[in-house]
Amino acid sequence: MSSNWSAKTGSEGLTRPDWDAIRLEFPALHQSVNGCPLAYFDHAATSQKPRRVINAMTHYYQSDNANVHRGVHNLSQRATTVYEAARTKTARFLGAADSSEIIFTSGTTASINLVAQSWGNAHLKPGDEVLVTGLEHHANLVPWQMACTRTGARLKIVPVNERGEVSTEAVSEMLTSGTRMFAFCWISNALGTINPAQEWVEMARKRGITTLIDAAQVVAHKPINLQEIGCDFLCFSAHKMMGPTGTGVLYGIKSVLETLDPVFGGGDMIDEVSYERSTWADLPYRLEAGTPNISGVIGLSAAIDFLESIGWASILERESELLSYALEKLRNIPRIRFIGEPKLRSGVISFIADGVHPYDLGTLLDEQGIALRTGHHCAQPLMRHFGISGTCRVSLALYNNHEEIDRLDLAIRSALRLITNVDK
Ligand code: PMP
Repeated sequence: MSSNWSAKTGSEGLTRPDWDAIRLEFPALHQSVNGCPLAYFDHAATSQKPRRVINAMTHYYQSDNANVHRGVHNLSQRATTVYEAARTKTARFLGAADSSEIIFTSGTTASINLVAQSWGNAHLKPGDEVLVTGLEHHANLVPWQMACTRTGARLKIVPVNERGEVSTEAVSEMLTSGTRMFAFCWISNALGTINPAQEWVEMARKRGITTLIDAAQVVAHKPINLQEIGCDFLCFSAHKMMGPTGTGVLYGIKSVLETLDPVFGGGDMIDEVSYERSTWADLPYRLEAGTPNISGVIGLSAAIDFLESIGWASILERESELLSYALEKLRNIPRIRFIGEPKLRSGVISFIADGVHPYDLGTLLDEQGIALRTGHHCAQPLMRHFGISGTCRVSLALYNNHEEIDRLDLAIRSALRLITNVDK
């Protein structure tokens, strides 16, 4: 899709998006925090939203607001049309074979829980194994612990090395004849490690093992082609890709989704209901009980348009350039130690400063208008692996710029000086 952003021509004659103009699309970025301009480095927790997304949701509430699938009246039909158009767009965005393979959920956590409960109940039995990696967000760990407790299956964890990577050899060794499910994050939210998703799925599929990819940290940063990846399930949240909170996607191959019983019963997911029993609607509706997050799905659709209007080649180039710049700056700050040095990484940098609690550093940075995340990043076992309770995490997005990274560098240096002087 061609860019609708006024393009700048680079020195090599390539046209590039005008990143300053794109940044202006994000109203929340243009404010002061504690008297300083906001520098937002917490994209991995949730992204800021462009006007296009905010306006699409406002337009729905102002003009089309009605429940979907249930009305003959004009507004309901309009709402249904935009809701279902968003499903078709999401299927195309991901390269799904059919739009009925797209289930709208409230987010990655809900998507993974749906699979762990429904697929888990149908397919796991005592002695079976579920494999996850040591890099997982709690959202791709706890639901599998619960599924294993319910079914008697065993949860196995592929270890993480000191660089914050999971080796393909270790995965291969742990995918045994007893493994039924291999569920892994494509990109780690805590360290930024990029896993070789396609290779891992291929290995698992050859052995007849079902795969689930947690793509929460992928969707705003890399294009996804499900036909190439070949996974059975893939999950993500709209709010990490410039879309709204409370909306997400569960993708599943149709033949696999068809084996799932609904976890929630109620309106919209049925075919016939009597007082005694009910039958289910076809996919995708039988896994979407109740009124869905209609405005959220409309926001997701606008977020897809927004990302595609910039183009993946430009996004990849921009984010890789910002990451290199930030890594170089932060690496040169005395007392800073990176947690995780994966060879393949996305725009996430986790670090600690010797002798300084991440919360103290985070608080001092906030005083200078700099927003980064501190803590365990919903990956407590991974933090334990590194012998720490948490890190400071800088996460970058296409709307960040060099000036902000320069400010981050100076702010960390001055915060560390201040802490050192107080400690003396
Ligand atoms: N997995 C990963 C890798 C994540 O980064 C997150 C969010 N931090 C989640 C799962 C959970 O996403 P949500 O809270 O939107 O359900």
